Amino acid sequence: MNFNDTIVAAATPYGYGGLSVVRLSGNDAKNIAQNICRRDTPLKDRRATMVTLYTSNNEPFDGAVVTVFKTPNSYTGEDVVEFSCHGSPTIVEQIIELSIDLGARTADPGEFTRRAFINSKIDLVQAESVAAVIHSQGEKSVQMSHRVLSGELSNKLNDIKQTIVEALSYVEFELDISEDELIPDSVVRVQKNISYAFDSISALTESFSEGRLLNRGASVVITGPPNAGKSTLFNALLNENKAIINPAPGTTRDTIEAGVIYDGISVVYSDTAGIRKSNEDIETEGIRRAEEKIKNADLVLSIFDIENFAHFNNNNKNGAFIPVLNKCDLYDQQQISKVKSGIDRCICISAKTGLGINEVKAAVKNNLRTSASVSDVVFLITQRQYDVASSCLGALERSLQLMKNGVVSFELLSIELREALDAVDKILGKTTSEDILNNIFSNFCVGK
Ligand code: GDP
Repeated sequence: MNFNDTIVAAATPYGYGGLSVVRLSGNDAKNIAQNICRRDTPLKDRRATMVTLYTSNNEPFDGAVVTVFKTPNSYTGEDVVEFSCHGSPTIVEQIIELSIDLGARTADPGEFTRRAFINSKIDLVQAESVAAVIHSQGEKSVQMSHRVLSGELSNKLNDIKQTIVEALSYVEFELDISEDELIPDSVVRVQKNISYAFDSISALTESFSEGRLLNRGASVVITGPPNAGKSTLFNALLNENKAIINPAPGTTRDTIEAGVIYDGISVVYSDTAGIRKSNEDIETEGIRRAEEKIKNADLVLSIFDIENFAHFNNNNKNGAFIPVLNKCDLYDQQQISKVKSGIDRCICISAKTGLGINEVKAAVKNNLRTSASVSDVVFLITQRQYDVASSCLGALERSLQLMKNGVVSFELLSIELREALDAVDKILGKTTSEDILNNIFSNFCVGK
């Protein structure tokens, strides 16, 4: 990939609106902008300038505000120009085409952020958080992604890296000197550093599931036998008629989803096909999808009615689930109490009348509550970060193990510490392969 040329793309989504922004980055950005607005005097750095934009035939086609950010004090670290034009796809297209005629090329997905990364304006963790900020759902997610973008996670990782580097330098020193020069307390120092790094990485990996939940929202799946009232509960939880309610069993054949925000966390409810044996292809596929959803859910609401009580089972063997007894409007108190006493944490509701719906919402919120306050803890936010941090943790664990055995092999210790160091560098993007970078940035949109 060539990063020496000048790129152009719309920074705002396609469509009609008050304003759109077109962004240029690279050596020719300023010249191209000067040319489109026919200015002889240079555009001033970081000064919003009202200009008229001209076609190649000298026809004025829009009035815009243009801002120049001179290298290195720009988003990408290169010369950057932003046109704030009227929000018309035709005007945006015209600015892009004129820029291309004047030597720019269309930016690849995520290329502005990739250039910011290459020019060391941000590290890889911060680059990933740009995508996270844009796709954040719920205010807690925004807060968390912003903290990563502003460098808090990077600072934590750099602090851990420093501790490992220090431990490694002691170890290498021990390897270089002869026996009678051994520093008496160096083993204690190395052990202290490794323990600190181990505890810090361990805290980060443990917080990942919470970070992921905040980042992508929680998946809450409603499951149970056909006709138990899943679609009715789904609609009651969302206060809308999205799912079709039908007395005939097997009506919901695909998964229907809708989201709400609870206490700043995005929650996506899924209404699934009723789990039962079916000879019908479409229903069987619906059931397969439901089972897949249950496997990946953060929480399962297992709904059943008294007729199905005998068959009640927890579908979410590995994860959190809440048993919900529905159609309580049809039963007397004695029947309800009998069922309730047999099933732990069972909530009794009538999805039809609304009885107990608030209790279900409260239980969902309670189950998904993050233990840590977003303002206290910094989270790993991507699977990549988690995977590399886990391999770092493994190397640090093996290092601690080596030190427990009394006679320390500094050669082996040096190998493990180098592996741990390499992993931290990978998270920060200092030694990340081209393939992984391509994969990360290709998931961005064009213009970011
Ligand atoms: P699903 O197949 O599990 O999605 O079940 P539905 O939500 O489609 O409901 C099946 C039938 O049960 C419909 O006729 C609903 O009106 C009825 N139903 C659902 N919830 C209740 C409830 O709380 N009380 C009563 N009496 N009927 C209900």
